[in-house]
Amino acid sequence: MSGVRLDGVALGKQIRGEVAEQVVALGITPGLAVVLVGEDPASQVYVRSKGRACEQAGMHSETIRLPATTNQAGLLAAIDRLNADPAIHGMLVQLPLPDHLDTDTVIRRIDPAKDVDGFHPINIGKVVLGDPTGFRPATPYGIQQMLIRSGIETTGAHAVIVGRSTIVGRPMASLLIQNGPGGNATVTTCHSRSKDLGAITRSADILVVAIGRPRCVTAEMVKEGAVVIDVGINRVEDASTERGYRLVGDVDFEAVAPLASAITPVPGGVGPMTIAMLLVNTLQAARAGLRF
Ligand code: NDP
Repeated sequence: MSGVRLDGVALGKQIRGEVAEQVVALGITPGLAVVLVGEDPASQVYVRSKGRACEQAGMHSETIRLPATTNQAGLLAAIDRLNADPAIHGMLVQLPLPDHLDTDTVIRRIDPAKDVDGFHPINIGKVVLGDPTGFRPATPYGIQQMLIRSGIETTGAHAVIVGRSTIVGRPMASLLIQNGPGGNATVTTCHSRSKDLGAITRSADILVVAIGRPRCVTAEMVKEGAVVIDVGINRVEDASTERGYRLVGDVDFEAVAPLASAITPVPGGVGPMTIAMLLVNTLQAARAGLRF
């Protein structure tokens, strides 16, 4: 068996195209604001791509850049302004924040109706309950869309998720157990304290890996014919590249791809889906605003 490459670039483009068409039909311009505190290089790249994707979809995009020295009150005041701004339908605060800022307090300050990252407790609760008015966090939402649009059956499948973060692992479990398309799986969630990880991952029909360790999941840990979704984005040194590094996932792609039935590459797999789903959520926010 040789794994089908799940092409997140093509699927993401398709979804962004659908969003652009729906924006035209909406009659108002959805607005997304991204708050960036400090100069973290990776965050700057992510924020730029979010802004660009937004504009390409016909949305209004604003980036609020605050110095790394911004205090909690200053950041909360910026969020309050965006909460009150009628041109902004969705907003997110790019994480990670500098250490002196309290991420939980910051996230809770965002109006849940504008929380397009889906990190506010109200949205986390709605997603767990399967309430479609909640915002599904973009990365697991993108993975679910990728499974649906690639014709991968989740009903009755054993889905094993490695990683229990609030932005990937936990919401992924919530989405996969729901009763509906891209759901109805039997879900096991693993983490750093799970015993005999390999025995659990080998029982997966669908394996989602989000741990942040380069090539941690090896061929011995994967069942023949499994669908493998690699969320990890890790920099590894590579002197042969101009930048001196390259990006790899949490899965040993070369070793695992031959035995998987389908697999996401890194880069070009889950990453582009994440940005596409952020636009879907911003459109959802703008639509919901029209109903009031
Ligand atoms: P976190 O660091 O928040 O969580 C990592 C999780 O992995 C934790 O639950 C941890 O367990 C678990 N873990 C760590 N090591 C092991 C191990 N050896 N065995 C089993 N479980 C382990 O990471 P994120 O969820 O935020 O991100 C994970 C990866 O995905 C990163 O590489 C990140 O860059 C990438 N990412 C990619 C996105 C995309 O769009 N493609 C979006 C978001 C993230 P414990 O809880 O016990 O510590």
